[in-house]
Amino acid sequence: MKTRVRAKVVGRVQGVGFRPTVYRYAMQFGLCGFVCNGPHGVTLEVEGDDGKVGAFFDCLTHEPPQQAVIADIQTEVLGTKGYRNFEVIESEQQGQATVHISPDLATCDDCLKDILGAKNRRCGYAFTNCTNCGPRFTIIRDVPYDRDKTSMAQFSMCERCEREYHNPLDRRFHAQPNACQHCGPRLQLRVADGTASDDADLAKTKELLRRGRIVAIKGIGGYHLACDAMSAESVARLRRRKHRPHKPFAVMFRNIAAVKQLCEVNEAEEAELLSAARPIVLLTRKLAGRRLAGGISPDTNTIGALLPYTPLHHLLLRDFDTLVMTSGNLTDEPIISDEVELPTLLGPIAEAALTHNRPIVHKCDDSVLRVVNGQRQFSRRARGYVPNPIRIAASGTPQLLAVGGELKNTFCLVRDGNAFLSQHIGDLKDYKTYDYFSSEIESWKQLMRIEPQVIAYDLHPGYLSTRFATLAPIPHKIGVQHHHAHIASVMAEHNLHDPVIGVALDGTGYGTDDTIWGGEFMVADRHDFERVAHFKQYRLPGSDKGVEEPWRMAVSVLTAEGLDEAATRKFPALKWGLVQRMIKTGFNSPLTSSAGRLFDAVAAILGLCDVTSYEAQAAIRLESIADPRVTDRYPFAVQTGNRPWMLDFGPTIRAILDQRRQGVAVGEISAKFHNTMAASVLHTCRFLRGQHDLNVVALSGGVFQNELLLRRTVEALQSRHFRVFTNTAVPLNDGGLALGQAVVAAERTKRTCV
Ligand SMILES: [Zn+2]
Ligand SMILES: [Zn+2]
Ligand SMILES: [Zn+2]
Repeated sequence: MKTRVRAKVVGRVQGVGFRPTVYRYAMQFGLCGFVCNGPHGVTLEVEGDDGKVGAFFDCLTHEPPQQAVIADIQTEVLGTKGYRNFEVIESEQQGQATVHISPDLATCDDCLKDILGAKNRRCGYAFTNCTNCGPRFTIIRDVPYDRDKTSMAQFSMCERCEREYHNPLDRRFHAQPNACQHCGPRLQLRVADGTASDDADLAKTKELLRRGRIVAIKGIGGYHLACDAMSAESVARLRRRKHRPHKPFAVMFRNIAAVKQLCEVNEAEEAELLSAARPIVLLTRKLAGRRLAGGISPDTNTIGALLPYTPLHHLLLRDFDTLVMTSGNLTDEPIISDEVELPTLLGPIAEAALTHNRPIVHKCDDSVLRVVNGQRQFSRRARGYVPNPIRIAASGTPQLLAVGGELKNTFCLVRDGNAFLSQHIGDLKDYKTYDYFSSEIESWKQLMRIEPQVIAYDLHPGYLSTRFATLAPIPHKIGVQHHHAHIASVMAEHNLHDPVIGVALDGTGYGTDDTIWGGEFMVADRHDFERVAHFKQYRLPGSDKGVEEPWRMAVSVLTAEGLDEAATRKFPALKWGLVQRMIKTGFNSPLTSSAGRLFDAVAAILGLCDVTSYEAQAAIRLESIADPRVTDRYPFAVQTGNRPWMLDFGPTIRAILDQRRQGVAVGEISAKFHNTMAASVLHTCRFLRGQHDLNVVALSGGVFQNELLLRRTVEALQSRHFRVFTNTAVPLNDGGLALGQAVVAAERTKRTCV
């Protein structure tokens, strides 16, 4: 019996070779009909033998193209129409856009063979790609994903590329960025003295790098600054010019074997490094890893490693085992992505720039993650993952926008239960970053066809994202407490709906009592929360200055605990008295229960870091010296007289000072402090389990980026049979905040509508 079936396929089905696969299966089963892209995804019709149509759908759902994600297929059986052949037809332009845009994909093995194959017509061509790989999100202006809606529109294909593009059996069939050296984008080397050359750019670039020069290299989502990772002199010069004395630089390795020579790599880490997203993965440096310039990550024994992900990277890294590849920007500013901004890098920082003429539509930094307890943990979620959606509800959510926090900002748009978290935007206090934030929101709204009815924001009145929300012409505004948002982001990721014990150990977040929170225990659901316990409050002398200068926090803690005489000598004597006065009068010294600040204070007391040059530097140094063999801990107290309870680490600080005086090694003291934190979380959660009959714990907040702390806390909780969840799909720092805000806002809107 003959039949005709129409199907609408939604999900990540454009820019991933979906239509060619449909075509191939239709040919295989001798079916007629058509396939086309539309704003919602892919529409197809197949006509033929009943059994063969069934087999066709079997294949399509069980063996879709490598990079495709089918969210749903709706089929409809219709009367036969008498199609004579199977065709790929023009895209439908009408209808609601719901297609999921693919993230950028690392160069596939087939394309790698093309660019390295001496006889291939794409040999050495830096912009080679196919339907399985290449830029996507960063070149898309609008949907459906067709070439004229990308930044490839300005390049007309030559005859041979055109043939590939129209041949359904070719790997480059409808590969929108398809190009070759005759018709596609080209490299250009610009030297700081103003000269530009158009030939042998790659060879000259390699020569400059070999001679220790810094070269700005245009990639997929912006420029990198590259230099020889083995040259201490080049790395030091890059640090000087970038005004970045300590924050680690990422290193690109030639291949996985080169990574393994210098770093410890387990199976999960290898899989991350080799994935199509190609993130920067934080790895432990081996002894041999000392061959890398010491200046690459002076505060830690880890290396941020990544593998080549564009043809250009592969061509460059043929001649180097390693290159520093750090974001091409000035501190706190967004990554530079076009030639107008290039003078910021070329001259002041880099001696040369290897650019190209394919415009970048969306800036997008490299993603950064590590693997903890076998699970992915993002510190920055951007290229390779954005704009993949995160499912937060079955459906029926209003269209909404959550604007995130202030530092490490991301925003989030929600439609039909899917949350689209933006790429890492950065620190909104910088004007250029704020500008980028506002323009990306506009462009995402267009791309996702979302017109928000609701806007969610942080309660901090000083955040620029909060001000943006206040001014936005969206009638329904929902403020979400910072740490509730952190916990809600975990609940969303793991599909948790019942109340949980939320533990947010964090740097800074505005509380409902107008003080700064950051060591928080809550009983929370997606709608609301109760603050049930928190760290003891201390003054933060100088506010932001107190965050940048951990010694101030040390003075504050020591003074409050009546221990100041014990440690006076170690701190800048002149300012000591001034800071003490600030603490006593409270002048510009808000109260804070921040766990991050407690780590700062301990690091400063141990003499590890008085003044930071990047966020969380003191805590990072404290973690990196901890002796992992140490298992005991210091005393602490929990005051349960009033709600919320208070965790008091005064006894901990006192014991640390005693041990310091006795000459105990700082590595041991640091480990015992970490263990104390983990024990205090367990202790409090056990109390709460008794009172609230809750057994699920959600951990979030930037302080848990400390791997030792997270491991110890999870181990402690699991040993007492708690079910423990933390962020794995979004950062547990403020980069994940927007997702949590979106979840809370969606829940509150749902309840008001009922
Ligand atoms: Zn490819
Ligand atoms: Zn061509
Ligand atoms: Zn936070």
